[in-house]
Amino acid sequence: MKTLRDIPLEEVLAPGTSLCAGCGGLLLIRIFEKILGSNTVVVNAAGCMSLLSVFPFTPFKSSWFYVAMASAPAAAQGIRDALDILIKRGKINRDDDIKVVVVTGDGAASDIGLQSTSAALYRKLDFYYLVYDNEAYSNTGFQASSSSPYASSTKTTLPVDDIPGNLLQKKDLFEIWRAHKPTYLATISPAYMIDMIRKIEKASNYKGSKLFIAHSPCPTGWNIDSSHIIRIAKLAVECGIWVLKEAIDGEVTHTFIPYKRRPVEDYLKIQGRFKHLFKPKRRDDIIFAIQKSVDEYWAKIK
Ligand code: SF4
Repeated sequence: MKTLRDIPLEEVLAPGTSLCAGCGGLLLIRIFEKILGSNTVVVNAAGCMSLLSVFPFTPFKSSWFYVAMASAPAAAQGIRDALDILIKRGKINRDDDIKVVVVTGDGAASDIGLQSTSAALYRKLDFYYLVYDNEAYSNTGFQASSSSPYASSTKTTLPVDDIPGNLLQKKDLFEIWRAHKPTYLATISPAYMIDMIRKIEKASNYKGSKLFIAHSPCPTGWNIDSSHIIRIAKLAVECGIWVLKEAIDGEVTHTFIPYKRRPVEDYLKIQGRFKHLFKPKRRDDIIFAIQKSVDEYWAKIK
């Protein structure tokens, strides 16, 4: 697919779900399913997306399997094994190419389910993994996860006096997963749709573990207008905060390099979760620290 016009018009995810308007994670799953087709079994770890398919209703044409936060990759292994046995016994046609797709939020990916993902990568499980990274535990009220950015405000990292919100740095899930040398690993953004589609198409040529970390603006938790999610996702890439890259067998390539980076301030100041960095007193020390860490990343790339 070369342009947005090439995206299939057929929807495999029905409208009218109970998720928040403008949810970045929902948009990503919609496109992901469109590209992979409805011949998928989605294994979902508890999180915001669990609200999509609540028995007996589902907006999916594909199958949906709901599990606890810690065990989605383990469940995916069981389903992949069952499908392979059925193919071997001739009960399922190999050409049907049924794919197993894990969908989790960042809490399940970076914290609670990290062990079972590591084990699945170690076993070279043939599956897809899409993490919608909204940078907190959004489903339960926006508590901090280990993916929450430094200085962001969450329900458990409230800014008070001199404390700028979250004091910890976001975990580098890309590098943690890359250390396992998975077959395919990429970061994606809903604002760079063609980049994302090319990555999904490319990954589908490989057998093995195919992992995607998706920037997922969350209007409810980030305190942004639901009509601004693409603008904010685009700003994150233009400021160099959200990096678009892929790794094949551990070898990294950047798929977009923001040569003229915008200041990180442009991304921070339009989100309610960072508003304490600008009012009532401007926190240049914190803004500078965030800018410095972004600059250091890109200086290393050069
Ligand atoms: S809380 Fe955020 S991630 Fe969860 S459904 Fe709402 S917008 Fe989406």
